[in-house]
Amino acid sequence: MLGLIKEEGFDFAFDAKACEECGGGCCIGESGYIWVTPTEIKVLSRNLKLKTDDFITKYLSKIGYRYSLKELEFNGGFKCVFFDIEKKMCSVYENRPKQCRTFPFWDHFKNNIREVEEECPGIYRL
Ligand code: SF4
Ligand code: SF4
Repeated sequence: MLGLIKEEGFDFAFDAKACEECGGGCCIGESGYIWVTPTEIKVLSRNLKLKTDDFITKYLSKIGYRYSLKELEFNGGFKCVFFDIEKKMCSVYENRPKQCRTFPFWDHFKNNIREVEEECPGIYRL
């Protein structure tokens, strides 16, 4: 199939076209951490025209010494604070954290294809 994205070390490929139909399966559902780095926090707060401290209070949870995007209850599960339910897309897409940019090619999913298949309809076994 044309347009499949592959990464070395993974036994699956990803078709980004699946995102158009999916409606944000990786941004809603079960609770999970969405880590943001200090640089990402600066970029996101600048783009939302907020002071960093205000951005942190409004959108982040402190977990140990790190920050994760807040989640809101949704449909019996959760959604990322930046997921736009009406548009069914990320409201900060251009500046989304690296963790979101690199999905589904997370080390966690290496040799763990079943879990990522359940979460993402764009996965194809190689
Ligand atoms: S779950 Fe997969 S197909 Fe759905 S939005 Fe996320 S990356 Fe795209
Ligand atoms: S920041 Fe955007 S891409 Fe990442 S989980 Fe939240 S809504 Fe999804």
